[in-house]
This record gives sequence, structure tokens and C-alpha cells, in this order.
Amino acid sequence: ALAAAVRTFDGEGRTADGQRVELLANVGDPAEAEAAAASGAQGVGLFRTEFAFLDRTEAPTVEEQVAAYGRVLAAFEGRKVVVRTLDAGADKPLPFLRAAPEANPALGVRGLRVAETHPHVLEDQLTAIARAAADHPGTTTWVMAPMVATVDEAEGFVAACARHGLGTAGIMIEVPSAALLAAPMLAHAAFASVGTNDLTQYTMAADRLLGAVARLSDAWQPAVLRLVEMAAAGGAAQGRPVGVCGEAAADPALAVVLVGLGVTSLSMTPRALPDVAAVLAATTSQECRRLARLAVTAPGADHARSVVRGGLTVLDELG
Ligand code: PEP
Ligand code: MG
Repeated sequence: ALAAAVRTFDGEGRTADGQRVELLANVGDPAEAEAAAASGAQGVGLFRTEFAFLDRTEAPTVEEQVAAYGRVLAAFEGRKVVVRTLDAGADKPLPFLRAAPEANPALGVRGLRVAETHPHVLEDQLTAIARAAADHPGTTTWVMAPMVATVDEAEGFVAACARHGLGTAGIMIEVPSAALLAAPMLAHAAFASVGTNDLTQYTMAADRLLGAVARLSDAWQPAVLRLVEMAAAGGAAQGRPVGVCGEAAADPALAVVLVGLGVTSLSMTPRALPDVAAVLAATTSQECRRLARLAVTAPGADHARSVVRGGLTVLDELG
């Protein structure tokens, strides 16, 4: 059954009983987007645009951005690309922004917060995305903002996108406040994508890059899963899709749990797509919900992981 599922993987993720789960690719630059398209990915759920800004002494011009984004949109003609606006800050510093040094960069002026200190950066980027989208009308272009923490920020970002003619604007849910307020945020935003890397970091108060706290930096932590569940419920209440684009989506067993929690799409490194598709294809939506319930009620991350993995015999066939 598994081999058949792998063979028939066409980007259309489905559970064994036919519930659709959109399976998308995370990409970091035009070359990666072209490789992802060539490997059969059916769309991009997270296009990290930092590549256009990092290691630059001067801000990229609108024209440079239009060209770079256009290559990604061209690679996914007829499909969807979710473009994430710049996620930089004191942790990923941009020389031309000359941001003030911060004692706690992960908690500082990062992501959408840069739009307040340097409004022209977001304005130029939205101008460029809108132009690239107009150059590639065959591609469905969605835009989303990183590090959204308040309903006002969600509303402000959606309004800014609308001023640029970008009609499908969403938010990342990667701060616990956004998961808690997913429903009111999704009254404004057209969709949400849960960034489990940062959501885990901020929920567990554990630096995502610090090996000494790796035990806590684990998306299997039931507290993180409960916030994902809350985000998905907020989307369901508003009739809006809520996906996951953090590393968690690339773990086939965790993907089953995320679907069981109500997540409608999974975006991941392209090489993880076939295994995630195969495990979903072998698992019914009812089983996804049952395993998700076991995971959110587990006493810890290791317990959640082992009880779910133990319930998925299909994993043995992956090798
Ligand atoms: C995340 O935080 O899960 C995410 C997808 O964004 P990034 O890894 O770029 O911070
Ligand atoms: Mg993030």
C-alpha cells in the first residue's frame, strides 16, 4: 500500500479516506524554487524572502526584488506561492537597517515589527511582490507576515497588502499570542500558517538554536500542539485555512497529528513530501484525530512521539 502511495504521489495529499491536505514546499530562493518545482511540488507554502536582503550593504531595489520574486512565481505557474515578507531583526541583522543592538534579539524588533521602525522596507517589498504577481497572473500569489503578535498588527498588514492590490494576505502564527487570538486575527487575515519552529521557541522559552535546551525545543511538546489546535480551531470558526510551515510538517508522524488537530495544509522541505504523503495516504482522518488526541493529552514530548509512532505501523515501511 505504501509503495503504491509513493508511486502515485502527485502533490495532492490525502488521508486514506480521501480528506484533502494540501502538501507544499518551503523554499529560500529562486534556485530552490526551481528545484522544488522540478521535483513535483505542487506549490510553495513558505517562500522565505530574506535571501534578497541578507548580506547586503544596501537595501535591494524594487526592481531587483521584482526580478527575484518573479523567478519563483514563474517556477510555479498555474500553482500557488505564499510569499513571506522579510523576517529580519537583531537575530538576522541587515547592515543597511542599522538596527539598535538588543540584549534579547528573539524578543526584539523582528519580522513584521521592522515595518514600524523602517516602514519603507515593507512598502517597497509589497510593491515588488505586487508587480511580480502582476507579471505572473497564472500563479496564485498569497502574501503573509512573520511574527504577528496582535490583532491590530494582523489588521494593519492586511490593509497594507490591500493598498498594493494584494488581496490574499495572511499571517504566520509563531508567537503564542497569535495562536490564542487566531479567531479574531482570522477575522482580518485570509489564512494563517503556523511556524512551529518559533512557536515552539516562544511557547517553551527555549532558544531554537541552543543544543542545551533541545529537549524543550520540540514541536511534540503537548503545550505546542495545544496551541496548534487552537490556531486550527480559530481558522475553522472563521472558515479560513490554517496550515503549518515549520519543520514539524516534515515529520510524517507529527504531520498525522497536525492533520488530526485540524490543520489544512503542510509545507515542508521538498524532500520530505513523498514520505509525508505516503503516511497520510495510509491513515484515515478519524485515526489522525485519535492520534492527535493522544498527543495533546500526553504528559510530555517523548511520550507523545512514542505513542503516536507506535500507532502508525505504516512508518515501519518507510525504512
Ligand atoms: C517557523 O518559525 O516555524 C518558520 C517557518 O519560520 P522560520 O523558520 O523562517 O523562522
Ligand atoms: Mg519563524
